[in-house]
Amino acid sequence: MSQKRIAIFGSTGSIGTQALEVIAANTDKFSVEVLTAQTNDELLIQQALHFNPNVVVIGDERKYQKVKDALSKTDIKVFTSESALEEVAAMDIYDLMLAAIVGYAGLKPTLQAIENGKPVALANKETLVVAGDIVMQKALENRVPVIPVDSEHSAIFQCLVGETRNKIEKVILTASGGPFRGKKPNFLVNVKRDHALQHPNWTMGAKITIDSATLMNKGLEMIEAKWLFNLKPDQIQVVIHPQSIIHSMVQFEDGSLKAQMGLPDMKLPIQYALGFPYRIQNDFPRFNFKSVSTLTFEEPDVKTFRNLGLAMEALAKGGNMPCILNAANEIAVYAFLRNRIGFLDMTEVVEQTMNRISFIESPTLEEYYDTDGEARSFAASLIQM
Ligand code: NDP
Ligand code: MG
Repeated sequence: MSQKRIAIFGSTGSIGTQALEVIAANTDKFSVEVLTAQTNDELLIQQALHFNPNVVVIGDERKYQKVKDALSKTDIKVFTSESALEEVAAMDIYDLMLAAIVGYAGLKPTLQAIENGKPVALANKETLVVAGDIVMQKALENRVPVIPVDSEHSAIFQCLVGETRNKIEKVILTASGGPFRGKKPNFLVNVKRDHALQHPNWTMGAKITIDSATLMNKGLEMIEAKWLFNLKPDQIQVVIHPQSIIHSMVQFEDGSLKAQMGLPDMKLPIQYALGFPYRIQNDFPRFNFKSVSTLTFEEPDVKTFRNLGLAMEALAKGGNMPCILNAANEIAVYAFLRNRIGFLDMTEVVEQTMNRISFIESPTLEEYYDTDGEARSFAASLIQM
């Protein structure tokens, strides 16, 4: 395996920093060519000095000079401005993009990488939720593999190795249930930001941690699975599995179920996506049957966790509905994180926005961009009231 040149978009986040740990342990296999951050200049500078990439991007223009000065003794090029991420994604300086930006902001650079013929290791699920049809079509046209990083989708992807001739009957996405599994609305109504930020099994960025607490994350993952594996909505099922040992399953036409298992640690799916098709030896902690003797499964409670129900509706409806759901959810989650709205209000914002924004059956990319903008403004107007 020759050295693969990696571009990490969103290097200062939870996925980005874990990817750098994987790379640091495998410098014979990977080099770092691009690092990007939005506001975290300190960490970006530290990462750049350590990994010596070709280019860094700092999204926040006010931080540009500081990053530039800190890297002035190196050959590292420093970019900023709104279009910088796309410009860098279009460069021929890397072999694989790790798409680890959070939210809608990850869409355009990822599309650019695909148009540039670069394989994508995709953590940024919102990209597929917003415009999955266009993203996967472009990937097909450009013969670019999209390798999932999300643990559930990585599990399915791993279960599908060697099964190209066999039809999938359905996929079963596992969900931990989050910190409020079993709770009812009378409890959830009083949930505050800091409590919702404590996930039982995974340590992740703030946005996905809140999405996991509301189960919106699992809804976004159902939509992500539809596009990654070319499935119909009724082929995608969710089961609550609190131990997070089975990362997801595929059921084939003969009824056989394949599962991928392991301890909940994102470094494994990140490493698998970076190294694909090779598995790489590592010293990550191993699963021990003595410490986890029982694996349990439950139905998700979509009546209480209505965000999952709304995402299922958006999945079934198709068109620009998942894009509307995603935009409203991003606005709602950031409002909740700033203590502007309550836990259950997030669902209200998403539902009302889905009811308000015009439905388009087969949107163009421009129409997806417009839908995102309209849904955001409407969702924001609900919060100001
Ligand atoms: P984090 O919030 O930890 O990191 C996000 C990264 O994106 C940071 O580098 C951040 O920069 C950058 N960023 C934030 N906003 C913008 C913007 N507007 N433009 C450009 N860059 C931006 O997120 P996670 O690492 O947790 O998640 C990243 C993606 O991976 C998400 O889509 C998430 O759903 C998905 N994912 C994450 C998992 C996890 O375990 N964390 C598991 C499965 C999927 P800065 O630090 O400067 O703000
Ligand atoms: Mg996941």
